[in-house]
Amino acid sequence: MAELESEQSKSVPVKKSEDFMGWYNEIVERADLADKRYPIKGMNIWRPYGWSIMMRVDGLTRAEMERTGHDEVQFPLLIPEHLFNKEADHIKGFGGEVFWVTHAGHNKLDERWLLRPTSETAMYEIFGLWVRSHADLPLRVFQICNTFRYETKQTRAFMRVREIHFFEDHSCFATYEEAEAHVEEDLAIATNIFKRLGLPVLMSKRPEWDKFAGAHYSVGLDVIMPSGRTLQLGSVHQYRTNFSIPYEITYEKEDGTHEHVHQTTYGMSERVVGAVIGAHGDDRGIVLPPAVAPVQVVVVPIPFKGKEELVLEAAQAVTERLREAGVRVKLDDAEETPGSKYFKWELKGVPLRVEIGPRDIDGGHVMVALRHLEKVKEKVPLGELEGGVIGLLDRVETELMERQQAFAEERTIEIGDIAEGKDKAGVLVGAWCGQDACATEVETTLNVKTLGVPVDSEPDASEDSCVTCGGPAKHWVRWAATY
Ligand code: ZN
Repeated sequence: MAELESEQSKSVPVKKSEDFMGWYNEIVERADLADKRYPIKGMNIWRPYGWSIMMRVDGLTRAEMERTGHDEVQFPLLIPEHLFNKEADHIKGFGGEVFWVTHAGHNKLDERWLLRPTSETAMYEIFGLWVRSHADLPLRVFQICNTFRYETKQTRAFMRVREIHFFEDHSCFATYEEAEAHVEEDLAIATNIFKRLGLPVLMSKRPEWDKFAGAHYSVGLDVIMPSGRTLQLGSVHQYRTNFSIPYEITYEKEDGTHEHVHQTTYGMSERVVGAVIGAHGDDRGIVLPPAVAPVQVVVVPIPFKGKEELVLEAAQAVTERLREAGVRVKLDDAEETPGSKYFKWELKGVPLRVEIGPRDIDGGHVMVALRHLEKVKEKVPLGELEGGVIGLLDRVETELMERQQAFAEERTIEIGDIAEGKDKAGVLVGAWCGQDACATEVETTLNVKTLGVPVDSEPDASEDSCVTCGGPAKHWVRWAATY
């Protein structure tokens, strides 16, 4: 009983539907994802369960990188100031956000070093040495590392931190067209990864005033959170030759002349974990997509007086069969009530719970509860155990995505409808003439940011007029309040 109480004392005191951020801040600790007690603001501890989820997200990313012929590298954490200073816009964009190393031991350094806020300036000096001729292109590398940014706003686990678990793909090409094709490939990679996570991601070409420091253009990857605000999970950038000129990354063409390479990047942070938690969770805890769940199936024996042994053996056999079939399965045979176990694994978001008691054994089946639904159980015959359970895991993945897609649709609001009193918590869309001032006026009047022109779909705006000035529209644009 003591254990039951200690588990239930972990129950979430805040309802997600009533206070999303309050719920989120609680759940990341109660579900054992992060420990926020480290004495530097914005630098949290990844607890084993949270880290296991992050590693599985990285696993999806690595698999996509391997499929598309990118090689993994690992560059130093420290960047000397003179390298960082080579690209003027980049420094302007990051200058106020970097942590500096000024001393080594007792000695003051002649030149300051900084902790990478991102790795362009570390990598590109070396890319200039690696790339010599057209035979060295394309160069496609990525790294998964930690980056550092001095956040001054309120920090939040996974969503806004100062030490950031980060993925970055940096690629070099002979021509602008090849680099453009790679932007498309990176967006397709992102789509594949987010599909496994049940997250319908909006891809929007950021306006000029909000592109990445040093980029030719940037495409933001955003997801709508339950509050209606969007969270940017990553971005893909076309750099053209903006970095290869100052960093002198050139290649010799077949005719002996030299040209600067065209570059792209794709970055994505631990915010992906924040989005998974925020999008799918409920008042009982987090809900994990099977692809990144450390435990996909928990097996809970339902004991019955005099039949404890029989039930336990059946539960062990079921666990073993699922493990053999490649499912990440855990048998919870602890001395606790089944109710207490349900509570614990629901909080941690395990997608499926297999229950097995004497009556199930007699009937030749197990009952499987689906975490993402309220009180839904499916009967799976023991003869079809492996296929049945794997089929249910696939169903969870599909249904999480469908649910989020429906939510995203419901939260996509035409600006014209707001005037008629429609709730504006979501992504606002409207036609735009292309003038900066018309988009920024929407920002100020509705207190939102311009996400940009959709690149995941291309709605035709040629018949429409700008929501601000009424002039002929060029594009549809998305705006939203953002995290
Ligand atoms: Zn206008």
